[in-house]
Amino acid sequence: MKRAYNFNAGPSALPLEVLLKAQEELVNFQDTGMSVMELSHRSKDYEAVHNEAQSLLKQLLQIPDNYEVLFIQGGASLQFSMIPMNFLAEGQVGNYVLTGSWSEKAIKEAKILGRATSIAASAKETNYDRIPKLSELNVAPEDGYLHITSNNTIFGTQWKEFPTVKDNMLIADMSSDILSKPLPINNFAMIYAGAQKNLGPSGITVVIIRKDLLERSHDQVPSVLRYDTFSKNNSLYNTPPTFAIYMLRNVLQWVTDQGGVEAIAKLNEDKAALIYNAIDESNGFYKGHAQNDSRSLMNITFNLSSDELSKKFLQEAKDAGFVGLNGHRSVGGCRASTYNAVPFEACEALRNFMIKFQKSNA
Ligand code: PLP
Repeated sequence: MKRAYNFNAGPSALPLEVLLKAQEELVNFQDTGMSVMELSHRSKDYEAVHNEAQSLLKQLLQIPDNYEVLFIQGGASLQFSMIPMNFLAEGQVGNYVLTGSWSEKAIKEAKILGRATSIAASAKETNYDRIPKLSELNVAPEDGYLHITSNNTIFGTQWKEFPTVKDNMLIADMSSDILSKPLPINNFAMIYAGAQKNLGPSGITVVIIRKDLLERSHDQVPSVLRYDTFSKNNSLYNTPPTFAIYMLRNVLQWVTDQGGVEAIAKLNEDKAALIYNAIDESNGFYKGHAQNDSRSLMNITFNLSSDELSKKFLQEAKDAGFVGLNGHRSVGGCRASTYNAVPFEACEALRNFMIKFQKSNA
């Protein structure tokens, strides 16, 4: 079987081993005579999967006991609304660092809800080609939280160190780099991530939340939009996306088998280096979008000298079996997403293709 060189930004590649396990168990999960999708979400068999997914994530990211792992539907996009809805009381300000389209969408939802917002820093002026320096951040004591996007999927930038804020009220959208490296969880009040890049298929959002935040939800927030509802019911308040959580559990087992997050982080560095080196050693034939010190190890964005040449590159790459290399329309050019499940060999093949293409088109 030939697997595509899948560089999609999301949903993206899943580990082959995880897909094969799901295939093997699809119609008869652990001798139940049923698919995992057919189990009651109140059954012991399903609950074991659900709880194992939570405990594996806690082990892999070394999440301390004063945090909980919640599974919520609605994607990372619903979190853009749930965060201000639950955490911003009268007189409190939601402070956002603007580092790309997803941060813009996050602040937009807080505004729709009529909550006070401010902008701690923005990289919009230079088309989001960098992460602002920590010294540039404008944070005030009355801020309810500081919200960041740890990895900017569209622009290819990534935070390398995290700000420390009062009461550690730092909230991060980690949709496109969670589980790609170890994390200082204690710096954060909450971390959230849509699963469809590093964690599994779409349909589930993982929320890592410090327990004291669970007390903050206002009475006016509907039950299914409150974090404490998910916490009190072990994320089984209503029917969760059981198959997506089963796949998440399998991905977490796979990461554990790879040697955990540290081993994955090393591999991610090596994978991204292959492609960044092809850019840096091309004498300007390929131009990276992100400034060097803000470069993402998950989404590598680059341009060629003209739209015409970019088009030719993308067409020939497609013919050679590379999938998902088109850049987002706001940056143009090309983007290679090198998430956890993208094999080293795929990055090596892309590096070789880039060098070959340059030789015949320079
Ligand atoms: N945040 C980031 C950084 C993303 O990359 C994405 C999707 O690509 C989202 C949020 C939106 O996620 P969802 O589609 O799960 O709402």
